[in-house]
Amino acid sequence: MTSKQLFLFDIDGTLISPGGVSRRLLSIAISKETGKPIDLGYNDVAGFTDRSITRNSLVKLGSEGSNHEALLNTILDSYSESMKIEFTKSNLPFVYDDCVSMLDEVESAGHATCLLTGNIKSVAKIKLEKFGLWDRFKFGIFADDAEEKLSMPRLAREKAWDVLAESFRLENMVLVGDTVQDAEAANENGCKSVIVCRKPEKREIIQSANPTYLVNSLMDQPMRETLIS
Ligand SMILES: [Mg+2]
Repeated sequence: MTSKQLFLFDIDGTLISPGGVSRRLLSIAISKETGKPIDLGYNDVAGFTDRSITRNSLVKLGSEGSNHEALLNTILDSYSESMKIEFTKSNLPFVYDDCVSMLDEVESAGHATCLLTGNIKSVAKIKLEKFGLWDRFKFGIFADDAEEKLSMPRLAREKAWDVLAESFRLENMVLVGDTVQDAEAANENGCKSVIVCRKPEKREIIQSANPTYLVNSLMDQPMRETLIS
């Protein structure tokens, strides 16, 4: 077996598809609190954190001001409240079975796991609880901890020490994600990455970010054999 590694799982597009529900509800929360309409698209949100998406939207809407931070927090609270009701009952979100299968294999091989996501923690919990996945992770790094993904791997390393009392070298950490930003966060920190291409039109741009593995499915056997077992 390879030495014990820490696998850091992204949520949206990797473990689950939010089915457009969270994007719509965040748009509504921003519109409601600013009084200005906004319709967030896939490219506005994928790979970014809830805090940076909201901050960028406020800039775009010209809603910056002295109450900027307060407004940002009010929007995220309102978003989280609506997610609790709408996301839980919606039948649009679904789980990616290839990722759950990989999580199973990673766990049975004795590696450690955690979450690394742009979601705020309360929303991450709502999303994963819907599919019984929240309790699979002992800890995570969320938008509450860092506004950009680039700084998240190092925070995960520190938290692994606090929570698991285990020290991982950065090269023994593997980011499992679906976007350019995930590959960049891994490279920037000297970690490995597995990026699953969920949208064929994104393949080229993800490849240019130089992930360790770019796969069409997390069932990919060559990737699993070299990385996990
Ligand atoms: Mg993602």
